[in-house]
Amino acid sequence: MKEQDTINPSSLRQALAAKARPNLVVVAGGTDILVQLHDRVDRPWPKLLVLDGIKALGKITLHDDFVTIGPNVTFSEIESSPIIGKYAPQLAQAASVAGSVQIRNRATIGGNVANASPAGDLIPPLYVLGATLELLSVRTKRSMPIEKFFVGPGKTVLKSNELITAIRISKVKRIGFFLRLGTRQALAISKVSVAAALMIKSGIILDVKIALGAVAPTVIRAGVAEELLRGNRLDAKLIDHAAEAASKEARPIDDIRSVAAYRKEMVGILLKRGLTKILESM
Ligand SMILES: Cc1cc2nc3c(=O)[nH]c(=O)nc-3n(C[C@H](O)[C@H](O)[C@H](O)COP(=O)(O)OP(=O)(O)OC[C@H]3O[C@@H](n4cnc5c(N)ncnc54)[C@H](O)[C@@H]3O)c2cc1C
Repeated sequence: MKEQDTINPSSLRQALAAKARPNLVVVAGGTDILVQLHDRVDRPWPKLLVLDGIKALGKITLHDDFVTIGPNVTFSEIESSPIIGKYAPQLAQAASVAGSVQIRNRATIGGNVANASPAGDLIPPLYVLGATLELLSVRTKRSMPIEKFFVGPGKTVLKSNELITAIRISKVKRIGFFLRLGTRQALAISKVSVAAALMIKSGIILDVKIALGAVAPTVIRAGVAEELLRGNRLDAKLIDHAAEAASKEARPIDDIRSVAAYRKEMVGILLKRGLTKILESM
């Protein structure tokens, strides 16, 4: 890679000014995009906008009601952050099982979201945590619930002049989990993943969100299973019903990593496993 082929801003202002120009490819940790660019052998190497020198985008910050995670925060930093451990344990779990140590030290949360893979491991936890994304351009600022960001595999509503500049989650404490199934424990993209966040009082589920990864063109919520659980006492029978409903809600495809029928079944099994652990801990 030649030096003149990259722009290395040290501030967000510089990065946004550069992003106003066409045909720049953003690089954070590079673990997705550099692989994709190497695969595009038929096209010339594009000019890269490398974000990792912008320190302000690499912080986890605690506010009165919410936590801000900068897009450059790596999986390793998420895994070891006491703030994330306290307010977003599902996210810490997901970060800790993805890739390898080397990948986790480079891969960022912003890259995981912007890459928009339905198998991106940090996305289901962000759905159940009700995360919002801040999208900035030189002239505009908008924020949106993460569920509105994705339109298909690898496709988002991000405009060509925008960057993801923050990911916000509420500080409301909920219990939950992230579970995934890959071909191997490490270095395999998820075949299926399930994240959940629950608010339980005196055994009754007051609120619940469940998200399913790698079983539809984007990460999806398991709305029917959530409806079955909400307002009811968590017990083994209810867990079985919810697991069956979530299985039916999955819309997986057969691909090189797995077959649809197995993925559907595993959605129910993972949800049952996670909810049963919560029941046993009550
Ligand atoms: C061997 C290997 C194993 C892997 N295992 C896993 C796994 O287990 N789970 C998993 O989820 N993923 C896995 N991945 C995929 C990858 O590591 C993650 O998706 C990672 O989070 C991407 O982050 P990055 O910083 O490297 O993104 P990059 O590759 O730098 O960028 C990814 C995309 O996001 C865009 N982008 C980055 N930052 C911004 C921003 N702030 N604003 C707008 N656009 C932005 C880029 O332009 C690009 O399109 C693996 C990859 C490899 C190579």
